[in-house]
Amino acid sequence: MISGIFKKINLNTQAKIGNDIHIAKSYLMHGQPVAIPTETVYGLAANGLDASSVAKIFKIKERPFFDPLILHTNNLDKVRGFVSHIPAIANKLAQQFWPGPLTLVLPKSTLVPDIATAGLSTVGVRIPNHPLTLSLLSLLDFPLAAPSANPFGYISPTTALHVHNQLGAKIEYILNGGPCSIGVESTIVGFEDDKVIVYRLGGLGIEDIERAIGKVHVISENENNPAAPGMLKSHYAPKIPLYRIGINNIEIFEKFTRIDGIDVANNQIGSMVFKDIMAEFPLNNQFILSPNGDLNEAAKNLFSAMRQLDNMPLKAIISEVFPPEGLGVAINDRIRRASVQ
Ligand code: AMP
Ligand code: MG
Repeated sequence: MISGIFKKINLNTQAKIGNDIHIAKSYLMHGQPVAIPTETVYGLAANGLDASSVAKIFKIKERPFFDPLILHTNNLDKVRGFVSHIPAIANKLAQQFWPGPLTLVLPKSTLVPDIATAGLSTVGVRIPNHPLTLSLLSLLDFPLAAPSANPFGYISPTTALHVHNQLGAKIEYILNGGPCSIGVESTIVGFEDDKVIVYRLGGLGIEDIERAIGKVHVISENENNPAAPGMLKSHYAPKIPLYRIGINNIEIFEKFTRIDGIDVANNQIGSMVFKDIMAEFPLNNQFILSPNGDLNEAAKNLFSAMRQLDNMPLKAIISEVFPPEGLGVAINDRIRRASVQ
């Protein structure tokens, strides 16, 4: 039995990076969080039905307790074990999109501790689509609570090394499943009365959801629910101020001249573009997210580019706004949350 919800965390350890699901399982069974790969971003995982294990996630991430977690498992039968009900429409989405980058918000059973859901009567649930993590989950008789494996508010990690750089001193093991294939967090969908509500844009496009179940309501910035800070305006943010700029190059230049005290010629600006270079800005600090113009590839590269720029001696990062279709919608959402404007 672990006493108290905050067990002391050894700050002197350096996490091992490996691909052994049995080692990961062993830490998890002993209440120790482990980083895991998913197709969206890397998660910081712990037993989602054990309050003391879940508390460690909050402590390591310095995440506020009002921000609820998502529980991950590997099949629908297991989901039925910790939710009280699955509406027919949720079941349809689950059948069609799981495993995949879709989180469903469902009424929770009493097995799920309040700390995991920030006291809400619902719980976010997902079956992630990553072979290593699905194998790990198949060995466990509990779901894994797993928010992104980064300090709260910073850019989500999409490689094992990203996790190691920020949380390596606070956890014991990082399960390495390679770079995340989607690269942005899951799309979160909830069910209120007869309505289907999208709380967070993400790795599953709205078009795909609507093709399956018809029109959905995408919650807007103004309707943000403070109890769901995945929706907070400022989130996923680099430390260097990021500015969003329109696609037209003249507009870019005009906007740029309004950013005081920054010298373009002196390489103080880094940039992220979709497929074409922006010649006005230093090319050695410029990341082209998809030279072929593929929004899925751009999503996959987004957070990694943002991190690399944030580690350069820059005064500003500027980003294009992406075409608002497919994963472009989620990319624009993350860039907006990361920006100072
Ligand atoms: P993440 O930090 O990417 O794991 O995402 C967790 C996010 O999921 C939270 O910040 C919320 O926005 C959302 N979420 C989790 N559980 C719920 C819930 N029960 N109701 C509404 N949103 C939820
Ligand atoms: Mg997160």
